[in-house]
Amino acid sequence: MTHVTIIGAGAIGVSAAYHLTGQGIDVSVVDKGHVAGETTGKAGGLVFRQLHEPADVRAMGYSIDFFRDLSEEDNHFTYHEVGFLRTGTERERPAFEREVAMQRREGADVRLVEPAEIRDIYPTLSLDGVTVGTYASEDGYADPHTFTTTLLAAAQECGVDYRPGTMVTDIDVSSTPTVETESGTIRTDVVVIAAGPWSHHVAALADVELPVKPYRAQALVTTPVDFEIGTVYDAHEGVYFRSEQSGGLLVGDGTEEVESDPDGYTQTADFEFLVETSDVVEQRLPVDDVGIQNAWAGLCTATPDGRPLVGQPTYEPGGDTGPDGLLVAAGLQGHGFMRSPAVGRAVADIICDGESEYPEWKPSRFDEHPGDFEIEEMLKIDGKHPEME
Ligand SMILES: Cc1cc2nc3c(=O)[nH]c(=O)nc-3n(C[C@H](O)[C@H](O)[C@H](O)COP(=O)(O)OP(=O)(O)OC[C@H]3O[C@@H](n4cnc5c(N)ncnc54)[C@H](O)[C@@H]3O)c2cc1C
Repeated sequence: MTHVTIIGAGAIGVSAAYHLTGQGIDVSVVDKGHVAGETTGKAGGLVFRQLHEPADVRAMGYSIDFFRDLSEEDNHFTYHEVGFLRTGTERERPAFEREVAMQRREGADVRLVEPAEIRDIYPTLSLDGVTVGTYASEDGYADPHTFTTTLLAAAQECGVDYRPGTMVTDIDVSSTPTVETESGTIRTDVVVIAAGPWSHHVAALADVELPVKPYRAQALVTTPVDFEIGTVYDAHEGVYFRSEQSGGLLVGDGTEEVESDPDGYTQTADFEFLVETSDVVEQRLPVDDVGIQNAWAGLCTATPDGRPLVGQPTYEPGGDTGPDGLLVAAGLQGHGFMRSPAVGRAVADIICDGESEYPEWKPSRFDEHPGDFEIEEMLKIDGKHPEME
């Protein structure tokens, strides 16, 4: 029987393992720490189809259906379908119009909304300066940690072998693939690198260079407030917020578009981030003085064009086809939790059928080495994707 070793028990690796169950494949998931213990456990849990690329809008169609189904089946996991509003000014209107047209073509139930309608949907939101928005009621949020542990438990019930506390130290894919770990050697048929911000380091163990760079993103949770609000992304200020189950507000973005070392970055939130986001909250919501309950930073992972790398990597970007028996699922930017159902399925499709529904995500798409590249977060509407240029 084919054996697959997945390196990384974040949302991406666990979803890949889950999607491989029932396919007649043996799966091991190894993690140097534990399930959802890194980036996934730090995610804001936003889930939305209002993305810049057709492939992503399609992927989010699959992901939202997956979240809904799991929410119906499982007592622990809940998909909160609270809607998602992006607000902007006349500067954002042309991009909003273009995006909504594309997203609707791809099947998303999203629409342009004018201030009067925004007021009806979000009565607590102050619309000072806001002249336009986009809205989708099927978007929402979920808890990334619960999602990933739930999925892992289901995968383990189907026979997936999960090995926490297992650091991968070497990968040899020159003949029969082997994965060296601090606890011994795993002989396998396919190695999947789903190591989040460490993916570059892990790929280097197999002599593969991945065009990915980790960068910091930040979030905070306020003390409880006396109202509830669905998710809002202020596209002009570049800040998102939504009600948390705790009664507080989750507020985020604070992206730092510079490369960070996954083994040595600042995991606490910056003072500037706390001040700037609190200002936006006080300006937009009936909160006089934001109380901060918790704040943190984690690492997202950027690629040169903002698209993920899902498939067989080349030895170097723009170079020869990489080794057989090696796949990568990384470079999810700030949208890896919500796309994890679709990415996990794509990995399983590549292993079982040789290809996925997302050729746009192939690591071999670079005709030449992109060289050094700038990190750009993908929530903002003037990102790098071709549709936005
Ligand atoms: C503040 C913040 C907010 C975010 N908000 C959202 C959001 O609202 N919605 C959304 O969709 N996304 C969000 N994201 C992005 C999202 O968290 C990531 O895209 C996603 O979690 C990536 O999952 P992953 O499985 O690739 O990586 P990870 O969760 O980091 O998992 C990788 C795993 O690989 C393991 N590993 C690494 N090296 C080795 C090794 N050598 N041997 C063994 N194991 C190894 C690590 O221990 C880790 O557990 C946010 C990120 C941050 C930081």
